[in-house]
Amino acid sequence: MTSNEQFKTCFNYIDGEWLASSNNQIETKYNPSHKSEIVGVVPMSEREDLHKAIAAANQAKQGWRKLTGATRGDYLFKIADQLQNRLEEIAETLSKEMGKPLAEAKGETGRAIAILRYYAGEGLRKTGDVIPSTDAEGFLFTTRSPLGVVGVISPWNFPIAIPVWKIAPALIYGNTVILKPAQEASITATLLFECIHAANLPAGVANLVLGKGSIIGQGLAEHPDVNAITFTGSNEIGKQIGLTAFARGAKYQLEMGGKNPIIIAEDADLDLAVQATISGGFRSTGQKCTATSRVIVVGKVYEAFKQKLMEKVKDIRVGNAMLPSSWMGPVANAKQLNTVQSYIKLGLEEGAELLYGGEAPSDPECENGYYIQPTIFDKVTSQMTLSKEEIFGPVIGLIQVNSLEEAIHTANDVEFGLSASIFTKDIGTMMRFIQDMDAGLIRVNSETAGVELQAPFGGMKHSSSHSREQGTAAIEFFTSIKTVFVKP
Ligand code: NAP
Ligand code: MG
Repeated sequence: MTSNEQFKTCFNYIDGEWLASSNNQIETKYNPSHKSEIVGVVPMSEREDLHKAIAAANQAKQGWRKLTGATRGDYLFKIADQLQNRLEEIAETLSKEMGKPLAEAKGETGRAIAILRYYAGEGLRKTGDVIPSTDAEGFLFTTRSPLGVVGVISPWNFPIAIPVWKIAPALIYGNTVILKPAQEASITATLLFECIHAANLPAGVANLVLGKGSIIGQGLAEHPDVNAITFTGSNEIGKQIGLTAFARGAKYQLEMGGKNPIIIAEDADLDLAVQATISGGFRSTGQKCTATSRVIVVGKVYEAFKQKLMEKVKDIRVGNAMLPSSWMGPVANAKQLNTVQSYIKLGLEEGAELLYGGEAPSDPECENGYYIQPTIFDKVTSQMTLSKEEIFGPVIGLIQVNSLEEAIHTANDVEFGLSASIFTKDIGTMMRFIQDMDAGLIRVNSETAGVELQAPFGGMKHSSSHSREQGTAAIEFFTSIKTVFVKP
C-alpha cells in the first residue's frame, strides 16, 4: 500500500488537552476515492477516556453557564473565524475522509461557519416570556436553564455541519459537550476541535472522544452524568440510544433516516423536475438523509419525464472527489458500497427494471475506490423493498401513479417522514400537498435535499424523535424552561 506523506495524526481532546487513547490503540483511515491513500490515524478510545471527558465537562459546566450569553457568543465567533481561516484545508480533509466532492465539502464548511455565527448571535436574544399572573402583585415569567453535560453523537455524511449544528446551540445556551463523531468523520472532527482549541474555550467546555459507536456512543448514552444526548444517524442505532437515555431519565433527540419522495405532477416543468431529481438523488452520492429516493410521476407525463431523466443522468461524471471534474464521488466506505450493491440486487430480484447504472463506472481509475454509477430503477411499486428501506446511496426508483391523490398516498406510504417535494404550477395542487404530506420538510418546486440553517429541521414518523434542530427550534432541546412566580 502506498501512503500519503501528509496524513493527520488525531487525538482525543479532553479538558483542553490533546490525549492519545489510554490503551494507545489506533486505526488507520483511508480515502474512499483512492483506497490506498492514508488520510489519518485515529485513536480507538476506551470507556476510561470517555469518563475523563465526562468528568471534565461536568467540572466545567458551572463556570460556563455563569458566563453571559454575549461572552459565550464571542467564543463562537472566534471558532467561526478559525474555521474561516482553514476552510480550504478542512474541506479537503473532509473530501478525502468520506468522499464528498470538494465543491460540496467547501459549501458544507461554509455552512458550519454560518451556523456558528447564527448561534453566536443567539447569546443576545430573548430566552423567556412574561405571562400575566392572576395575582395582582405577582410577577410570572419564564426563563431557561442549560441542561448540563450534552453528549453529541453524529454521522459521517455531514462531517462538519452536523457536529456544529449540535455543538453551537448546546454551547450558546450554556451546556458543555462531548462529541463522538462517526469513525469516518473523526479527522474532520479533529480539525473542528483544533479551531475550538485555538478560540481558547475554557478547558472542559467542549471535548472530543474518538472511537467506536458501541463503546463511546453507547457509553455516552448510559452515563449518569450526561444530562442529554443529541443523535443523528440511522434508525436502528437511534432507537437504541433513545431507549438507553430514556431509561435513566436523560433528555434525548434523535434525527434519523428518510425515504424521501419527489412527486412530478402532470403540469410540472419537466426540465426543472429532472434537474431536482438528479440533484436530490445523486449529489453527495445519495448519502444525505434528505436525498430523493422515490420519484412518483403522475399519469401521462411518465414517459416524457423518464426520457429527459435518461438524457441528463448520462452527463453525471463519477470520480475522485478531489477532482473538479467529478460531479459525484464514491460512497463513504466498503460497507456502504456493499449495502448499495445488495439493494440493487434485491431490486432486480423483486422485479424492478434497471434503467441506468447499477454497476461500478467503467473508468479504470474507479477501481481504486468505492464507486458506483448513479442508478435508476423503473417499474417500482410501493410494495418493493426499494420503496421502503433507506438505501443511503445513489439509487432512485420511478413509480407511476394515476392521480395526484394516489401520488400523495404513495408518498406517505412509508415509515419515514423527513423530506418531500412536488413539482407543479397549480396552487391548488401545492396546497393539497402541503396539507396532506406527512413530512417535516415540505419543498415545492425544489429538490428534497436542502436545509436553511435559520429554519427548523427534522422529521415526522420514524425519521425523528419529533424534536427539531437548527434555527430558533434548537433552544427547545438544549434548554429547560423554568416558570417563575415572584411575589414581592
Ligand atoms: P449510524 O451508523 O447510525 O451512526 C451514527 C453515529 O452513531 C456514529 O457516530 C456511530 O459511530 C454511532 N454509533 C454506532 N453504533 C452505536 C451504538 N451502538 N451506540 C451508540 N452510538 C453508536 O449512522 P451513519 O451510518 O453514521 O449515518 C447514516 C445515517 O444517518 C442514515 O440513516 C441517515 O439517514 C442518517 N442521517 C440523518 C440525518 C437527519 O438529520 N435526519 C442527517 C444525516 C444523516 P461509528 O461511526 O463508530 O459506528
Ligand atoms: Mg454506521
